[in-house]
Amino acid sequence: MLLIDGSQGEGGGQVLRTALTLSMITGEPFGIENIRAGRKKPGLLRQHLTCIEAASAISSAEITGAHLGSRALKFAPRAIKGGTYKFAIGSAGSTALVFQTVFLALLTAKETSSIELSGGTHNPSAPTFDYLERAFLPLLARMGAKVEARLERHGFYPAGGGCWRARVEPCAALKPIEILERGVPAACQTIAAVANIPFDVAEREVATVLDLMTWPKERANCRAVEADGPGNVVQVELGSENITEIFTGFGERRMPAETVAANVVDEVRAYLAAGVPVGPHLADQLLLPMALAGGGAFFTQHPTAHTRTNIEIIEKFLPLSFKLKEEAKGRWRISVEA
Ligand code: ATP
Repeated sequence: MLLIDGSQGEGGGQVLRTALTLSMITGEPFGIENIRAGRKKPGLLRQHLTCIEAASAISSAEITGAHLGSRALKFAPRAIKGGTYKFAIGSAGSTALVFQTVFLALLTAKETSSIELSGGTHNPSAPTFDYLERAFLPLLARMGAKVEARLERHGFYPAGGGCWRARVEPCAALKPIEILERGVPAACQTIAAVANIPFDVAEREVATVLDLMTWPKERANCRAVEADGPGNVVQVELGSENITEIFTGFGERRMPAETVAANVVDEVRAYLAAGVPVGPHLADQLLLPMALAGGGAFFTQHPTAHTRTNIEIIEKFLPLSFKLKEEAKGRWRISVEA
């Protein structure tokens, strides 16, 4: 049994999720202690518990320690089985993170899977549904993964109540991918959505993005969406030949819409200034699929703590290593060496 220290590196939920995914795929059981020790409220939250339950459902795993607040867990998977699954977080926790825990394992199943996920669909500090659909999954499709995702209802913190479905086809083997430059610029847009709060919040956010990016008004899109509670998300989507990157901000009480949007534009500018295709979040999320493909490389900004920690966990499970090299100031090449 592999032993993982949940406090290592970034010390968050990603350590657990990556271990769950790789344990299912390799068949190697693991024990983890100090779960989320680096967080204000350590131990398992609803989202993490749902990740464990989902992983256990698809791999008939034997588990101990899976309860709210738990700081230690043992997980021993059996065979992965595709099929029809429903994963409900029961809070506004991120459904995207639950999906990312199980979908790579489901690709290795013999059967096609249909998953229904409910909880948060647009959460701070996690990929939004839009991010999965238009930034993450298209790259996975290039690696050979056929996944369709359909949003049914938005879910924002704290009310949750969002829902989406995914269909995951079996995939014999993921193909390595190289993402070395963005390529020719393609469609760019800013989308702001509001639920149960005034529409002008969305209008002010996109107006700020257009102004700061000096974009024409055709690139803006405001939506009023249905959700259980109040919510507001603004995204800046940069399409290009080889990749689409999405930068996201969330409305907060007492923070002007203009500030929310300007903070997103700061992230966009840092990304564009680095002249790399892969942004900081996509960088940590691409590591697992690339490791499973046994190769690949991309250019990104300065590696985050999430990226470095994810690499440490992956290298514990798989006989490969990642290479990180700063090839020019702020321009890093990350590659997998099998
Ligand atoms: P924690 O244990 O930190 O409370 P957690 O289990 O929700 O939290 P983390 O370990 O922090 O999660 O992992 C968060 C994941 O969400 C990372 O893969 C990160 O790249 C991704 N993420 C965070 N913010 C964004 C964003 N704005 N866009 C896309 N992905 C994001």
